[in-house]
Amino acid sequence: MTKRRKKKRNFRRKRHRAFLIRTAVIALLVPLLAASGILTYLYTHPVVLKDTVITHELMEPFDPWENVKQLFFADRQDVTIKSEADITKLGDYPVSYICRGHVYKATVKVKDTTPPVLKVRPYTTDLTEEITPEKFVEEATDLTEVTLSFKNPGTWDKEGTYEVQIDAADTSGNETVKTAELIRKKDVTPPVVQGVENVEVLQGRTVDFSEGITVTDDMDPDPQLSVNSDQVDFATPGTYEVTYTTKDRSGNEETTIRKVTVKKDRDYNRKVVYLTFDDGPSAHTDKILEILNKYNAKATFFVTGNNQKHNDVLKRIVDQGSVVALHTYTHDYAKVYASEEAYFDDLQKISDMVKEAAGVESKLIRFPGGSSNTVSAQYCPGLMTKLTKDVQEKGYQYFDWNCDSTDASGNNVPAETLVKNATSSSAQHINILMHDTDAKGTTVDALPDIIKYYRSQGYAFEALTIDSYPAHHSVNN
Ligand SMILES: [Zn+2]
Repeated sequence: MTKRRKKKRNFRRKRHRAFLIRTAVIALLVPLLAASGILTYLYTHPVVLKDTVITHELMEPFDPWENVKQLFFADRQDVTIKSEADITKLGDYPVSYICRGHVYKATVKVKDTTPPVLKVRPYTTDLTEEITPEKFVEEATDLTEVTLSFKNPGTWDKEGTYEVQIDAADTSGNETVKTAELIRKKDVTPPVVQGVENVEVLQGRTVDFSEGITVTDDMDPDPQLSVNSDQVDFATPGTYEVTYTTKDRSGNEETTIRKVTVKKDRDYNRKVVYLTFDDGPSAHTDKILEILNKYNAKATFFVTGNNQKHNDVLKRIVDQGSVVALHTYTHDYAKVYASEEAYFDDLQKISDMVKEAAGVESKLIRFPGGSSNTVSAQYCPGLMTKLTKDVQEKGYQYFDWNCDSTDASGNNVPAETLVKNATSSSAQHINILMHDTDAKGTTVDALPDIIKYYRSQGYAFEALTIDSYPAHHSVNN
């Protein structure tokens, strides 16, 4: 080998080594540089979103985090989310994710893709009714407003069964279609009228002929009713006919007759004074009877069991044509108004006493303090409301007054005051409140003038009967 050749080989070896070193350096450096580049990029772009357009269903809860695919070198607390999404309204809303100065934007499209819930039912009707989709709908609900229509509109006006398609559409155009059955029948039955039982009324009173009347039809929900009561004369006793004519929209008509009997009222058009004496008997009862006899007048005595030494006068009241009636046995508000049971126990006692002493069974009542009393509320709230109803159901009648002599306002109220108050009424039926007790001497003194005054005005003086004008007060308890 020559020296020259040796030199040449050495040179080649050196060159090869340099090449290997360079290659190795590049092979190590390039990925390092690339990796550091990616890392730098990722550090400055830490948020990766799934979508920039998010389609979201109306009313579904919206969580903006669900749109975040990946976070690099960042935690959730490094990200600020600003969302304007309103899931209650259709529309496009911006949502942005902010992290290390970078803003990532997306759009939330709130959409409604759910069709309405629709439940239908069959519908039966006559041949006249206009058919609307609503008739078949049991339920039509959606998050937005539902519009109902027929998918296959028709007249369907002959007898038969039709299949109708009900379309329920929401405001986004989602639709649900259901098939329902329409049954058209010819209506041949007239409406039925109820509440037209025959009725009796006292002369001079009136009846509201439409009260309590109901009309129903198998097909027409709103049948017509006409009432003709032209021939009824409430002033003249007799039996009259009222006609009720009903008609449905298919033209079926029926007439029902109601008989109205106007009964004679002996007090009709007559002026009557009912003199009433409460709380007796007393030492004055005989004197009162004497005056009544003298003027040929009758009166009513609402008695108690508190002065029974005078009970022998009760028989004389009845014998002279006046009436003994029931006020209460004890007249003790705390006792008689303690309860309904307490009231009726007391009523039985006074009733028994009157039967024994006067030989009559009275059904006429006067409540202590009248039916309008408020004292009873202290012992039993609501009692008078119950009693006024229940005594009548048990066959009694209670009487209040429409003229007060005011003899209960104190003892020895001057007779002229009593006369003035007791003669202040000009009603057709006057029920005058007076008292028959040992302390009410001036009431006895006033009585003749009271009778004389009303007699001069054309009034009769009668004792109460169960049918007499009851002068009811309005109940306050
Ligand atoms: Zn009394």
